[in-house]
Amino acid sequence: MYEHVVIVGAGQAAVQAIETLRRNRFAGRVTLLGAEAALPYQRPPLSKKYLAGTLPAERLSLRPASFYEQHAVQIRLGRRVEEISRSAQRVRLDDGADVAYDALLLATGSRARPLAVPGAQLSGVFSLRTIADADRIRPVLTRGGRLVIVGGGYIGLEVAATAREMGMDVTVLELAPRVIERVTCAEVSAFYAAEHERHGVRIVCGVRIRAIAAQAAQERVRAVLTDDGTEYPADAVLLGVGALPAAELASSAGLPCEDGILVDEYCRTADPAIYAAGDCTRHPSPRYGRLLRLESVDNAFEQGASAALNLLGRPTVHDKVPWFWSDQYDLKLVIVGVSAGYDELVLRGDPAARAFTACYLRGGELIALDSVNTPKDQLAARKLIPARVRPDRARLADPGVPLPQAC
Ligand SMILES: Cc1cc2nc3c(=O)[nH]c(=O)nc-3n(C[C@H](O)[C@H](O)[C@H](O)COP(=O)(O)OP(=O)(O)OC[C@H]3O[C@@H](n4cnc5c(N)ncnc54)[C@H](O)[C@@H]3O)c2cc1C
Repeated sequence: MYEHVVIVGAGQAAVQAIETLRRNRFAGRVTLLGAEAALPYQRPPLSKKYLAGTLPAERLSLRPASFYEQHAVQIRLGRRVEEISRSAQRVRLDDGADVAYDALLLATGSRARPLAVPGAQLSGVFSLRTIADADRIRPVLTRGGRLVIVGGGYIGLEVAATAREMGMDVTVLELAPRVIERVTCAEVSAFYAAEHERHGVRIVCGVRIRAIAAQAAQERVRAVLTDDGTEYPADAVLLGVGALPAAELASSAGLPCEDGILVDEYCRTADPAIYAAGDCTRHPSPRYGRLLRLESVDNAFEQGASAALNLLGRPTVHDKVPWFWSDQYDLKLVIVGVSAGYDELVLRGDPAARAFTACYLRGGELIALDSVNTPKDQLAARKLIPARVRPDRARLADPGVPLPQAC
């Protein structure tokens, strides 16, 4: 049993690991080291209610300060861990302090992917990952202002909805032929593009950004320029071009990383004293038979909990069917499972009714589902997909038949 567990990165995965350690009577020391100044907080509202100003900062915290006192967690916030010395089992912080560990949990999350075009550093160009980012963006979300969003993924579309509801003129520029292409089918993409257009958002797909231009003799953004020669005037630009796993601390310590810190199904890195959980990892999924890197609250929560159980010496395979949600306007999209590699798509319900489900099958088995305003379907799918059900196609396509009865 370890005596001192040190967690690097104070986010969702870290909190779940702490809760699991203490709930399972871990009596050793726990130290939490986080680069941000705030106590661990929820990121999803940063593109939604917090950005809109309808959720106060106090409501973002995952747990109150008293939680860390009650769970006897030593916290150091606002300090980045810069180096891991694996031979000495110590980490070094950016103020030069050293912390020794018996076991280390890396929960360093991910960061916004930068866009390598001229002008990306101009004032008025933002990305969104932290409270500090959201606080910088919020003042520019003014009625009538022109916001150009580069990237039609979740964060881009959620900010588009928020900004549009605040009265901004919003344009989304996407390189792929359709929005949210990476994780959903053409039907769901088309539905979301149409919803945004109905709300007055301009969506332009298949365009590559050439540069972001400044106002004459100023450092402030003026327009986004695309390869086809079009200029999109902008008072502000949001870069929503994906996230990169924060794996450099692990890789500079010699731990294998490949689009994330590589861990096994027990959340172990190649070093037996170092575990990792959350957005920063790439992990094997027994259910899907492949490596996954997931950016979702659910995965951080579940993997943080599994890592803690493994730290306690209780072998626990992290093999949950993942799920993710996205709120845009009055639409709740919940994606359950991983649809990559599907060979058949069955739609339940009519997108025109603004409540429908896209079911993904592979070899007749239900592997994933996108639920748009169909809460019963997504809740049922969280049990059905792990059970490897093989639905009847005709019953599956009938929204009048409850999902479990189609399987
Ligand atoms: C705007 C936005 C909206 C989102 N919306 C949704 C949603 O609707 N649904 C959903 O499921 N998911 C959503 N997500 C994703 C979700 O928030 C993440 O998947 C989740 O926060 C991952 O948790 P984590 O603990 O792995 O990492 P994080 O929450 O990223 O926490 C990691 C922490 O580690 C710190 N850190 C990194 N390196 C170091 C270091 N060297 N030293 C010290 N500290 C370090 C970071 O500063 C950060 O505070 C959203 C994310 C964003 C940014």
